[in-house]
Amino acid sequence: MKTKRQVSLARSKELKSRIADYLEAKKSISKGLEMEPIFIKRKKEILKILEAKEENWNDWHWQLRNRIKDVETLSRFFDLSAEEIEEIQVVSKVYRWAISPYYLSMIDQSDLFDPIRLLAIPCKLELLDFHESLDPMAEEYTNPSGAITRRYPDRLIINVTNECAMYCRHCQRRRNIGSKDRATNKTKIIDSIEYIRQNEEIRDVLITGGDPLTLTNQNLEWILKELKNIPHVEIIRIGSRTPVTMPQRITDKLVKMLSKYHPIYLNTHFNHPKEITKASKIACEKLSNAGITLGNQAVLLNGINNDKFIMRCLNQELLKIRVRPYYIFHAKKVKGTHHFQTSIDDGLEIMEHLRGFTSGLAIPTYIVNAPNGLGKTPILPQYLISRGKDYVTIKTWEGNVIKYINHPTEDIKSLKKQV
Ligand code: SF4
Repeated sequence: MKTKRQVSLARSKELKSRIADYLEAKKSISKGLEMEPIFIKRKKEILKILEAKEENWNDWHWQLRNRIKDVETLSRFFDLSAEEIEEIQVVSKVYRWAISPYYLSMIDQSDLFDPIRLLAIPCKLELLDFHESLDPMAEEYTNPSGAITRRYPDRLIINVTNECAMYCRHCQRRRNIGSKDRATNKTKIIDSIEYIRQNEEIRDVLITGGDPLTLTNQNLEWILKELKNIPHVEIIRIGSRTPVTMPQRITDKLVKMLSKYHPIYLNTHFNHPKEITKASKIACEKLSNAGITLGNQAVLLNGINNDKFIMRCLNQELLKIRVRPYYIFHAKKVKGTHHFQTSIDDGLEIMEHLRGFTSGLAIPTYIVNAPNGLGKTPILPQYLISRGKDYVTIKTWEGNVIKYINHPTEDIKSLKKQV
C-alpha cells in the first residue's frame, strides 16, 4: 500500500503535467512587462519625429493632442506600402481612428498580425458587410433621460463623452465616435443626475463614454460630487481604457481627487498581455494605492486573444498589476467589427482551460450580451451534468464525472434541538 507521501507525490506529478503545455506556450506570448527596452527605443524614435521631450510624453494632454489620426502622419512613424496607405484612407472615410503616441510605441511594424496593430490601425476588414447593426444592443432604446443607458433594476450608465485616447478597431460603441470629439453637454448631464435623484432604486452609477478620463479633473469632479450628494447612490464606477491606451492620464492629482468620492471602482479593458506594460502597471498601482478597486473587462477577439493560453496569460498578468479579471465579453455583432467576432466555442474552450488550471482570482465571467438590451448572460462550461432529487452529477475541472449527494437544506434550529 502506498504511503500518504507517495500518493501526494504521484498527484503532484500529475498536476505538473497538466500545466506543461501552457508553460511552453507562454514563452512565445508577447508580454508587455518583458518588452520595456523595445518600447523605450520606439518611444525615443517617436519623440524625435515629433520634436518632443520625455516630459511631453508623460503629459496626458500632449498624448491626447498628438494622437495620430491620418495616414500622412502615420507614415512618418511607419513604413507603409502604397496599398496599406490606400487601405487606411478608404477605411478612414467610413470610420474615424486615432492612436495615442504611447499606444503607437507598442506596435510591432514588422508583424501585420501584431495584436496591438490589429487593435489600433484601421484595416479593410472593417468594411465587410454582414448586414450588422451599429447598435445591436438597442442602447438607443434604453435612454430614459439625459445621457443615461438603463438596462438593469438598480444601476445605470451615464455617457459623459464620446472622446477616447484611442479609437479601438474593435469598439463595440463605434456608433458614438462619430466624426469629432465632444463631451456630453452639461444640460444632458444635469438631466441624468436629476433622473438618478428621482429614482431611489439606483444605487450604482457607471460613468462611461467614450472614455470619461478624457474629461478634465475639474469636469469629472463636478459629476462625482453631484452623484455623491445623492443619498441612495452607494457606489460609483468608472469605465476607462486609459490605463491601457494612455496611462499618463492616471496622475497623482487625478487619484487624489477620485479618492474623495469612495467607494470608487474602475473597470478597465486590457485585451492582450502585450498591453500590460511598465507604464500601465504604474498607472494601475497608483489607482489601487488610492483605494480604487480595479477590474478588467476584456473582449474576446479573433486573432487577438481567442486562445486558451493567451487568455490565461492575460489574466495572470493582470493580477500582477492588481487588476482583477472581471468579464470576458463575447464580441457583439457590431457593424465594422465582423472580423473580430469569434464562436461561442472559443469562449467556452478558454473558460474550460481557466477553471482549476489557475487561481480563481484569474477567472472572469464569460458574458454574452443578449441582443436588444436584454442584458448580460453568463455562459459556463457544463459542470453540472444532471440534477436529481437526491444526487447531482457534476464534472470536475479535469473532466471526472461524479455523483454528489444533494440532500435538502435542514432547518438549523431543529438541528440544534437534535444535539
Ligand atoms: S476606449 Fe473603449 S469606448 Fe473608446 S474606442 Fe476603445 S473600446 Fe471604444
